[in-house]
Amino acid sequence: MAAARPPRMTRLENWYCLRCNQELESKNKSVAVYMFAQTVGIKPRQKSSAQRICFCPQCSVSLAMGPPPEGALNIAAWNMIRDLVGADPALNQAAWDSLRGVVGSLPSGDAESVPRPAVGGAYFEF
Ligand SMILES: [Zn+2]
Repeated sequence: MAAARPPRMTRLENWYCLRCNQELESKNKSVAVYMFAQTVGIKPRQKSSAQRICFCPQCSVSLAMGPPPEGALNIAAWNMIRDLVGADPALNQAAWDSLRGVVGSLPSGDAESVPRPAVGGAYFEF
């Protein structure tokens, strides 16, 4: 009896982690990186629209713990994420919680061939 189905067609607030492509709903914990460009010393002053880039907690922590990526924009984003991860353990906790959620949802049949979550080895792709 599936009477009240969740409104899955509303995609207004759904985003995807840039690194692992996991869907991030607005109720999910995530890190959003906002970026916009603005002219300086030029009249009239112009401002671009803002872009929003999202990372899930696991990828945020993994990126922050990893080596600096290449490219000035990537390093700027990496430094911002490191600020967040380093400032408060809440983001680490969120990553840990969702990691435990993934492990808990795996079939409990053959524990020896449990696939490990893909962590590390990825880079920013702006
Ligand atoms: Zn991710």
